[in-house]
Amino acid sequence: MDEWLSKLNANQRVLDLGSGSGSFDYSHYVCSIVAVDNDFNSLTRVLKTIPSVSTVKSESHHLPFKDRTFSLVVCNSSLEHFPQINDTLAEIGRILTVDGALVITVPNGYGFDDNLYRFLLEGGGHVNRFKFDQVVDLVRELVNIRLVQWHGLYSSYIYLKKPSPNVLPYLLPRFRRLARLPAWVFQATQFTIYVLIRLIAGLTDQEIALYGWALYFRRSNESLKRLSGWINVCMHCGAGHPAASLTNARRARTFYRCPSCKKLNPYFKPSATTA
Ligand SMILES: [Zn+2]
Repeated sequence: MDEWLSKLNANQRVLDLGSGSGSFDYSHYVCSIVAVDNDFNSLTRVLKTIPSVSTVKSESHHLPFKDRTFSLVVCNSSLEHFPQINDTLAEIGRILTVDGALVITVPNGYGFDDNLYRFLLEGGGHVNRFKFDQVVDLVRELVNIRLVQWHGLYSSYIYLKKPSPNVLPYLLPRFRRLARLPAWVFQATQFTIYVLIRLIAGLTDQEIALYGWALYFRRSNESLKRLSGWINVCMHCGAGHPAASLTNARRARTFYRCPSCKKLNPYFKPSATTA
């Protein structure tokens, strides 16, 4: 995503649709960014961080923008939250420029991670469940744009941390009681699942450590390319890192210190499809 955003100039507009408090670091790019969300408090947090960003409170299926005004639309972990998914995709097709692009990250709605998340958080706001081909076909049909690149996104199970007070209302009553347990119990559970699932994935060659996919769409005839997803995703802050960048890990790599939050994580060697 960074590569696609970096290529845009100051006259080009990017829409962060379902932005929450900002779905990526806006400060890295010169393009004009508009954050759209239906939650006023999230948009207020965006403005506190970067006052120069435009924010618009709107539902995703009825966007207050003219036709063909955005060079790039980003739906970063938001598509699974939009109740009116078909209308939302049609709106994206309407506001994208003719040569515009679309980046979507979305969980595998039938994978272990998303199912565990939905089970623990009573859906956690996920109202749509996608298979890879379903989301790609739906976007092609309603946005009129082709998938040109994609890569896997790997799990951090960050939602297994001890719940903060603002998450408690979303938990089932039995999990609300569990939330009283000490933080180390949550850390141990997250660590065990993180390591166990990756070990099983390595032994069985199954993609069970996959959280979802990053999908890159463009109106072009280029052939579809699978890129390598980052298998090392920080358990504490959720940031993914290419194994080659983890220079602080020693030769007998077992742990690395996350470049973003500086906390320790177990290190996993990349496979043929990961980096
Ligand atoms: Zn981190």
